[in-house]
Amino acid sequence: MSFTQFDFHPKIAAGIKTCNYETPTPIQEKAIPAILEGRDIMGLAQTGTGKTAAFVLPILQRLLDGPRGKIRTLIVAPTRELAEQIHSDITKLGRQTGIRSIAVYGGVGKLPQIKKIRSGVEIVVACPGRLLDHLNDRTFNLSKVEHLVLDEADHMFDMGFLPDIRRILKYLPTERQTLLFSATMPGEIRHLAEDILDNPVRVQIDHSRPIATVKQVLFSVEQSGKTSLLKDIMAKTNMAATLIFTRTKHRAASLAGQLHRAGYAATSLQGNLSQQKRQKALNGFKRGEFKVLVATDIAARGIDVSGISHVINFDVPDTVDAFTHRIGRTGRASCTGEAYTFAGRDDRKIIVQIEKLLGKKMGRIDGFGSNVDLPGETFPAAERPAKKPWKNAKKNNRITGRSNGRPTGRNAASANAKNQEQPYVRNHKAGGRQKSRSRAAMMVDSTGNLFLNP
Ligand code: AMP
Repeated sequence: MSFTQFDFHPKIAAGIKTCNYETPTPIQEKAIPAILEGRDIMGLAQTGTGKTAAFVLPILQRLLDGPRGKIRTLIVAPTRELAEQIHSDITKLGRQTGIRSIAVYGGVGKLPQIKKIRSGVEIVVACPGRLLDHLNDRTFNLSKVEHLVLDEADHMFDMGFLPDIRRILKYLPTERQTLLFSATMPGEIRHLAEDILDNPVRVQIDHSRPIATVKQVLFSVEQSGKTSLLKDIMAKTNMAATLIFTRTKHRAASLAGQLHRAGYAATSLQGNLSQQKRQKALNGFKRGEFKVLVATDIAARGIDVSGISHVINFDVPDTVDAFTHRIGRTGRASCTGEAYTFAGRDDRKIIVQIEKLLGKKMGRIDGFGSNVDLPGETFPAAERPAKKPWKNAKKNNRITGRSNGRPTGRNAASANAKNQEQPYVRNHKAGGRQKSRSRAAMMVDSTGNLFLNP
């Protein structure tokens, strides 16, 4: 199947080419024809499936006809980062169409937003809070909106935005096309969908499973051992770009600081930062200036950075949905990625739920509960070095040390030694010997992949 079947206008086909999209993803195959026909959509799709282009492309096509300089499409997204991401996708895909869009969110001045909108835009991509501010101030109106998109509706619900969404709906014409996308379908979203969608086409793409191209490993570790485990892994693994998730803003800032002091090009993305600093962190990560980004769930929504090789759940998320969203940051658009989850005794319940969702157990390091998987299940035998893995590991450490932007040589060794914490093995009654054996069990293969020495 190819994009030519949709018969897009050459100006839109040019945008698809610029983005190097060759074949439509499954959600694009299903959603694009229905949106072009003017149908409402109930899209159950997780992040990383190509859902943004699935609604942006047909909307651009429909906007080519009709008046310019009026807000004809409203896209509502839960976070600033996601709003920026959608706006940037519109700009890339619609470069030749002359259709203009703006991202509208809080934390930055209102005036530039008002000026830009008044100068004439056809698409507004907005977060609910700031959008309502503008609507209350009557700085612009939405009476000419033909298409409404609610993206990541489940996340908007999680963040308490549903009342705002219902208020925004009152400013919109009832005669419009409505597209609602959500990775999951809690009851509240189902009710909203019933209220606002008219005979929708249901498009469902593996909505509840984290992306299959991501290898999953579970590390059994208690709180006090997490930082040293992380540093160990980072020293032994070839990581291109790594996204680390913590449960709180404070933990994200503090861990990024520790990694930075240990010599890693690391920064944090969390809600305590000003919008300017958040954007700086995100742009730096996108450009590769930062190899490691430590983020909270909310700040990380909408991160679309190609080439994230590793996602590390430094703290297990509270919900399986959050897990799906986190893991969706790697393995995007069918690329492979690796995800490491640090879990302690208290996380057992949620791990069971996550594995139910995955449909299989994650590969274990140090075992977790009674179901200890063989490491080979996670990293196929063919990926392991033929013999003497210890030597390979040493060699690779040197290489990966450089590629991760860490200090190498003596400085690195002393930095590591200084930063040693509690052992991360769960059952470390046996003392130092057990500890070092366990550490030695994590190795890297000749391609730089982490593997376990059983
Ligand atoms: P999304 O689910 O919209 O966040 O998209 C995930 C990633 O897939 C983004 O980096 C898109 O640029 C990329 N993408 C979207 N559609 C395609 C396609 N047809 N072929 C290749 N990559 C795509």
